[in-house]
Amino acid sequence: MSRIDLRSDTVTLPSPAMRAAMAAAPLGDDQYGEDPSVNRLQDRMAELLGKEAALFVPSGTMANQIGLQLLTRPGDEVVVGEEAHITWHEAGASAFNAGVQFTVAGKGGLFTAADFRAAWKPDGHVVQPPTKLVCIENTHNRGGGLVFPQDEIEAICAAARELGCGTYLDGARIFNTAVATGMALADLCAPFDVVGVALSKGLGCPVGSLVAGSREAMTRAVRARRRFGGAMRQSGILAAAGLHALDQGFGHLERDHANARIIASRIAQTAAAIDIATVQTNIVIFKLPAPLPDAATVVRRAAEQGVLVSAFAPRTVRATTHLDVDAAQCRRAADVLAAAIEAG
Ligand SMILES: *Cc1c(COP(=O)(O)O)cnc(C)c1O
Repeated sequence: MSRIDLRSDTVTLPSPAMRAAMAAAPLGDDQYGEDPSVNRLQDRMAELLGKEAALFVPSGTMANQIGLQLLTRPGDEVVVGEEAHITWHEAGASAFNAGVQFTVAGKGGLFTAADFRAAWKPDGHVVQPPTKLVCIENTHNRGGGLVFPQDEIEAICAAARELGCGTYLDGARIFNTAVATGMALADLCAPFDVVGVALSKGLGCPVGSLVAGSREAMTRAVRARRRFGGAMRQSGILAAAGLHALDQGFGHLERDHANARIIASRIAQTAAAIDIATVQTNIVIFKLPAPLPDAATVVRRAAEQGVLVSAFAPRTVRATTHLDVDAAQCRRAADVLAAAIEAG
């Protein structure tokens, strides 16, 4: 029985062509600024994202943590949407490393400029923490791969600038946003001081993220990365995977999005709760209200049929499409999940 792994878009394996590009990559010691593959990836990504400079880092978590260190001081407050990766999935790093606290705005990961203004607290107040950063996740993972509306992003970031707050984009899946909206990456990133993007999600690379922003911010980011222990040496062997992915373009993400809709429309025929309107990219999240079986039961039953998905909460399941699953596999996975839900 062949396994269909929809737990995450991080489970992809590098293709033979990507491995060949990695094996052939020209290398040097990146701590001396001498790895040509890392330098090319950073330059290409900076240009693509419309920023002055970019820095290659081992993970999206480190990109987010560097972003926080660049834009906050301990004791500052950061405004985020509900269930942000930076608060839910980074092992408490934001409190541990940056010493910030979070205020949640809006619903389902999205919020408005009015929500941001309502959450904002001024500098110099006797008892309140100063709001110094707003962090937007696009697409929003736990919101179900939601695209954050760009006009709202522009309004939020304009308000942030007016109020003296920094702006950070957790763009681990910004390539999905670009494909879903047809917008240019540089336009999606333009409102933000600093952005983080992942190679290891939809682009199918084995390792890596980049953080991007002004040249001044990236000079400070080099030191922050070193402090986190994320400074690498002949890391061009990893950067080469990213260069290969950029050469391929992002057209394949359109297929991932179509495959997610295949799964979502089958789930919608069951008694599970799913809002098809939220299935905008490669993530399908559905809920299992009682008396349906709970998430652990559905995950176990599906696994017995070779279909792997994630229990995201006691009654919430996530399925994620990616480069290594095709439409036929997604149709089969959808039938297996529907049967697991309907088995009572
Ligand atoms: C996956 C992800 C990250 C980074 O995760 P790593 O596993 O550290 O690479 C950051 N933000 C979001 C929204 C993500 O989904």
